[in-house]
Formats: sequence, C-alpha cells, structure tokens
Amino acid sequence: MTFTYRLLLLCSLVGTVGLTATPMNSKSAHAAASCPTPALSRFQRHQVNRGETLESIAQRYNLRPSTLINMNPSVRNGSVTVGSELQIPPYNGFVVEVPSGQTWRQVAEKYEVRADALFEINGCQQDLRVVFVPGGNVSPSRPITASPPAADSQPISFTGYPLQSAATVSLPYGWQINPTTGEVFFHSGVDLLAPVGSAVQAIAPGTIVFANDQGTYGQLIIINHSGNLQSRYAHLGEIKVSIGQKVNQGDLLGTVGRTGEPTGSQPHLHFEMRSSSGLGWVAEDPKGFLKQ
Ligand SMILES: [Zn+2]
Repeated sequence: MTFTYRLLLLCSLVGTVGLTATPMNSKSAHAAASCPTPALSRFQRHQVNRGETLESIAQRYNLRPSTLINMNPSVRNGSVTVGSELQIPPYNGFVVEVPSGQTWRQVAEKYEVRADALFEINGCQQDLRVVFVPGGNVSPSRPITASPPAADSQPISFTGYPLQSAATVSLPYGWQINPTTGEVFFHSGVDLLAPVGSAVQAIAPGTIVFANDQGTYGQLIIINHSGNLQSRYAHLGEIKVSIGQKVNQGDLLGTVGRTGEPTGSQPHLHFEMRSSSGLGWVAEDPKGFLKQ
C-alpha cells in the first residue's frame, strides 16, 4: 500500500473517530466546540500545472518542499509530473500513527512540539490515533534535514502603511470568531476597512514574489522584504504589479476589492506580515509594523 493511499485511509479513519469520539467531561466538550477544524480535515489537493515545480507549489501554499515530499512520496526525487495530484496540508508538518495508550503530552514530547498546540491543531479530540504534527523538522518515516534559518534571520523592523489614509481595523490579528459563521479561527492578519477601488501600496521596499489569485485570499500580492520579512495584501480588486518587480515604500500595488473569501461583509484590505522561521513563513501581528 502506498503511503498516499494509507494517508487517505487514515484521514477517513480520523473522520469517523471524530464523529464517534465521546468527550470525557463537559470541559473538554466545550473545548471541542471552540476548536479549529482538525488539520487532517483541511488537506487540499493540487493538480500540477505545466511550468510548476515542487518549490513553486510549496511557495504557493506557504509550505516547505520537504512537507510536500513527506505527504507525497511520488515527488521524493524533487520533481513533479504535470497532471498528477498532490496532497496539500494546511501547514508544514507530517502525519503519524500513534500507538494506543499514548497521551497528547507523550506525542508532543516525542516530536518536540507544544502539547496544547498539538491538541488544538488536531481538533481537540480525545481519541488520538492519527495525528498531524506541525513543524516538519523531523519526519518519523524519512528524516529530512531542514536548512537552519539564515544567520541574519532576526527580523529587521520597519513601519509603513498599506493604504493612503488611516483605516479602521474591522478584525484584528489572532484567534477570532467569524462574524458570519460563529466559528473560531486564527486570523493571520488585520482587516483594514476601505472602499472598493482604494489604492493599496507597498508598506516597505521589496520584491514582488506572488501576484495572482490564491484561493480564499482572492487576488493576492506578496512582497519579500529584507530581514526575512514578508507582507501580504489580499482580497484585491486589481493587481498592478508583476512577479519579480522591485517596489519602494508607497508604490501602488493594486486596489481594494472583494475577491476570495473575505471575513465580514464590509470591503477591506486583509494585510499580513510574516517572518521566515523553521516553520516556514509565520504570521506576525502586523500592529507593530503599521504606522502612517
Ligand atoms: Zn482578514
């Protein structure tokens, strides 16, 4: 049985377990109700298009190539086949089968991750048989040596503003409740209210590394800055820059729109700051970077 097939089987197994799991007490029932969707239920599939590489697909989903290799043994040699399908996890990491009787704490210790984070990422389930371990520095089946962060990985801070005038924050960074669905989710950026068509500008000098449609983000622009920092501008209407282009602070990137799946009904710019780490590009609270 191939690993991919086994993974699919395990995913469906987890689905069944999730439905039948009995909370141990009312406290855990409450935790389950306010927990994010388990990582194993959030896998996507990606069909490889002409011109794509393992690296470009990994970049598109904000993952490390080693994560894609862990989930898709067919790309072990580093190359992808046009038309084939890849399993895309929601973040860097790998899937493990847990021997019966182990606790979240034991699994967390084994893979050197925080037990509470592991519990939440897996949907706060009591029954742990198949677990998604975030990170990806180690793989139980095939160790992949992760390249250590560059020596100058300490983020160099800067300030700027992605709109021409100060905007109201309709949804801040961090754990939030979706106003439409009532679900708890992690908001990886800030939502800045602005009318559709408002100019969106670069927060700092950098290079455009993504300028295209990207699922729930809609029309998305990503800029890489010095100091291993990255800014992201989502739900845009128009994109006025292209990949590889160098921009300065204040340069026009595009316009506010409503593409993708914006949270809330008022038009806004979803703005993110990310920093490069061993876990990939990790979302930071943009508050400290935003200054007009
Ligand atoms: Zn948002």
